Amino acid sequence: MDDRLQVNLDASLQNNFERRMIAEIRRRGVHVLRIHVSGDMYSSEYAMKWVRIARRCPRTSFYGYTRSYRIPEILPVLVELSRQKNVTLWWSVDAETGIPTTVPPNVHLAYLQTTAEDDPGPSDIVFRTRPLRGTPITRIGLSVVCPTENGTHQAENTTCTSCRRCFR
Ligand code: SF4
Repeated sequence: MDDRLQVNLDASLQNNFERRMIAEIRRRGVHVLRIHVSGDMYSSEYAMKWVRIARRCPRTSFYGYTRSYRIPEILPVLVELSRQKNVTLWWSVDAETGIPTTVPPNVHLAYLQTTAEDDPGPSDIVFRTRPLRGTPITRIGLSVVCPTENGTHQAENTTCTSCRRCFR
């Protein structure tokens, strides 16, 4: 693990993590916050911290992608997180995880396509690894390909701020 990620992990383990995060969100007036650019929910206690942070920052839209729905003790907390009005939570799926047979009502599916043959099934959004992005395609079945990765002229002109598909 690189030093920066280790620092973040250490901070998340501290008792004052929630207080510091909430203070930072409010001080900066954060409108949209992605939970984790790298890393994932590593425990139910940590996931619960994000439930409480989201509750105490109702003006901020939170969103995040997670594979930790596969860990039984973390799953209920993730479902609780997904129920928060200001949270959009995505299950990260791919050829290895397969498509979950049941998906909580407020959860969306984000599929990572690593080969052209990967079938995202009913996923809500498809991300593609870099080698696949050269092939223009905006949908795979009914699933929308992330506009920044769809290989069309749209990719150069789209940002998450202009798209907003992943958060409310
Ligand atoms: S561009 Fe849209 S679909 Fe792609 S990551 Fe950003 S918000 Fe999500």
